[in-house]
Amino acid sequence: MDQQLVPVLAAVQDFLQREHGLWIDGGSRPALSGRRSEVRNPASGAVIASVAAGDAADADAAVQSAQRAFASGAWSGLRPAERERILLRLADLLEAHAEELAQLETLNQGKSIQLARAIEVGGSIEFVRYMAGWATKITGETMEVSIPAPPGARFTAFTRREPIGVAVGIVPWNFPLMIAVWKLVPALAAGCSVVLKPASETPLTALRLAELVQQAGVPPGVVNVVTGPGASVGQALAGHPLVGKVSFTGSTEVGKTVGHAALDNMTRLGLELGGKNPMLVLADADIERAAEGALLGAFLNQGQVCAAASRLYVHRSKFQALTEALAEAIAGMRLGPGLDLNARVNPLVSQRQQQAVCRLLERSRAQGARALTGGGAAALPGYFVQPTLLVDVAPDNVAAREEIFGPVLAAVPFDSVDEAVALANDTRYGLTASLWTQDLSAALNIVPRIQAGTVWVNSHIPLDPGLPFGGYKESGIGREFGKGAVESFTEIKSVCIAH
Ligand code: NAD
Repeated sequence: MDQQLVPVLAAVQDFLQREHGLWIDGGSRPALSGRRSEVRNPASGAVIASVAAGDAADADAAVQSAQRAFASGAWSGLRPAERERILLRLADLLEAHAEELAQLETLNQGKSIQLARAIEVGGSIEFVRYMAGWATKITGETMEVSIPAPPGARFTAFTRREPIGVAVGIVPWNFPLMIAVWKLVPALAAGCSVVLKPASETPLTALRLAELVQQAGVPPGVVNVVTGPGASVGQALAGHPLVGKVSFTGSTEVGKTVGHAALDNMTRLGLELGGKNPMLVLADADIERAAEGALLGAFLNQGQVCAAASRLYVHRSKFQALTEALAEAIAGMRLGPGLDLNARVNPLVSQRQQQAVCRLLERSRAQGARALTGGGAAALPGYFVQPTLLVDVAPDNVAAREEIFGPVLAAVPFDSVDEAVALANDTRYGLTASLWTQDLSAALNIVPRIQAGTVWVNSHIPLDPGLPFGGYKESGIGREFGKGAVESFTEIKSVCIAH
């Protein structure tokens, strides 16, 4: 099959050629140090743009800007219905610029243009519309209190939810626009100001998002974007005393650092971290459907998905049939750039990530695992790794224990449901899991036994803005999505009136 490349829009080419600065106080400005960093296309390794390389001083300037905007009441003091209307306008603008944003993401992150259109941008638009509605539905409670003194006194008590102030969103490189939106929009709906810190590898769509936010009518200073290294910008934001909440998505190791920095100021914290997500295929499962689920669950975005299936536990009676079908399907997946409509596997985000995945594959093989298909880097320009199916994976094999964040699935047989549940839970992570069975009773009995924030039955990976998302164990603290996401950017104030 030939390449079928999507032509790059003129608007995208113009954006790439701009001298991008930090977005602070409603405008673009260079980093205080004057430093810049390069942005690459993972499909070729070529430099496609450059952005300002901010540091701790720039992070401070952005927080100060957000704090001034918050204190001014220009956003936090708007009627909730006005905030909702402006956020709905943002959704319309994202829709109007959908192809431009999708192409930017594909060129910067490497992912397939279909995925960028449907999930990165399409999912972001739906998420903004969903969250916009919560701006007008933030509520407290009234309650009867029983305060005994002074004798005869009466009290009326109620709670209010107030915006927490400056919210920081630290974003990973796997879904740069969508995860930025997951942080930005609930914070804005609650009335907060925001500082976003995109990953160093993928800064472009966050910068475009900030422009569209302002075009939608969010006042200058309410949303700021600081590009630059995590160790300086991210760390400074997480430990800044004027920040009310840090919402971080990224690796468990960095999440712990962010958590420690935030705790020093009692900054509120949401952590969405790594996963090592199991897929359990019971003896009665529909094997064709499970195979499709595994292909999607493990290889979407080249496995660079926190919720990706990376451990496939299959009842021994179905193990050979399923792994053979999967190996054949995986071997037939065409590799190519994200802009190629016929490519099924695209590059990883960076050379660093490509090398990390390949090193892990080598270690896994040295520990006894065997690749039924794939197994290493692909002989192509750009940061490609062959989609890989591993078998003979012992419980202590690195492929069964560490998050790989690449196109690798480890398949392991089991003999009993108890064994499958024990294997699924034998990890420090607890983000997602999926269960494949036609037996409703088995599913309902197993779901409560799995230590994961999300358990899918007969699917793996779909998310909905209304359904809470987050991790058990070392996969994080707190939940995103749903009403709780907006509430997490508020403080509760109890009011007690004596009368
Ligand atoms: P990462 O932890 O390396 O980086 C995440 C972000 O933190 C980036 O913006 C980075 O610049 C910044 N950062 C780095 N060091 C920092 C520091 N010391 N202080 C503050 N910020 C710092 O993660 P990544 O490699 O960009 O993304 C992949 C990871 O993200 C995987 O572990 C994946 O599972 C996780 N992830 C989780 C979810 C979820 O919802 N649970 C979603 C997507 C990705």
